[in-house]
Amino acid sequence: MTLPKDVDVVVVGAGAAGIGTGVALSHLELETVILERDEIGASFRRWPDEMRFITPSFPSNSFELTDLNAVTPNTSPAVTLDREHPSGDEYADYLEAVADFHELSVETGVEVTGLRNRDAETGTTPASTESDAAPAVDGGFVLETTDERVHSESVVWATGQFGSPRQDVFPGADACSHTSEVSRGPTTRPRAVRTTS
Ligand SMILES: Cc1cc2nc3c(=O)[nH]c(=O)nc-3n(C[C@H](O)[C@H](O)[C@H](O)COP(=O)(O)OP(=O)(O)OC[C@H]3O[C@@H](n4cnc5c(N)ncnc54)[C@H](O)[C@@H]3O)c2cc1C
Repeated sequence: MTLPKDVDVVVVGAGAAGIGTGVALSHLELETVILERDEIGASFRRWPDEMRFITPSFPSNSFELTDLNAVTPNTSPAVTLDREHPSGDEYADYLEAVADFHELSVETGVEVTGLRNRDAETGTTPASTESDAAPAVDGGFVLETTDERVHSESVVWATGQFGSPRQDVFPGADACSHTSEVSRGPTTRPRAVRTTS
């Protein structure tokens, strides 16, 4: 795989945020690459089969309202999928369709393992400002990946929280299962037991 060496924007993560941001950036004609460690919509692909979107997905076209689960103003998972509450796989299909339609540059199987200011690499110091505010950085960024190193003027970090749950947010939290830890496949539901007298 050959990654672009120098781009305007790198978006890290091809979930809902990454794909939606990628479309918005494509309208600005910025050279953008989306780096995804797994596949488009990977978090959604990992949902158990029976898990569904909570927010009803409907186009409400009569009022020209945006579908609440859409990642662009002119698409609707409800219309694409013919579903009010999509499953994870269905929603990932929708994200793939949006990425295909807009011909987004998505590099899958590439994990970003490090991010630093490009000035730190060259040893130069960002120009200081007269105020006490943090100096503006104009040197861009260096991204270390499991493939090649990429230079970028800007970075959008869109890696979500699904894959890195915190288990210690309150006493007893470790007694609960985070949704990301629920395994795929149909849940084994307890069977009703019929008793006979
Ligand atoms: C049961 C359930 C129901 C939900 N219902 C709704 C709903 O109805 N409506 C709604 O809006 N939201 C809903 N959500 C929430 C929604 O799923 C999340 O808000 C959404 O997935 C967040 O999108 P994201 O792009 O920020 O993150 P993600 O979708 O998690 O995408 C992050 C991506 O980044 C990739 N990644 C992570 N680290 C790296 C790295 N270092 N390098 C490269 N790639 C990386 C991951 O592989 C992943 O593909 C629901 C969630 C659950 C669990």
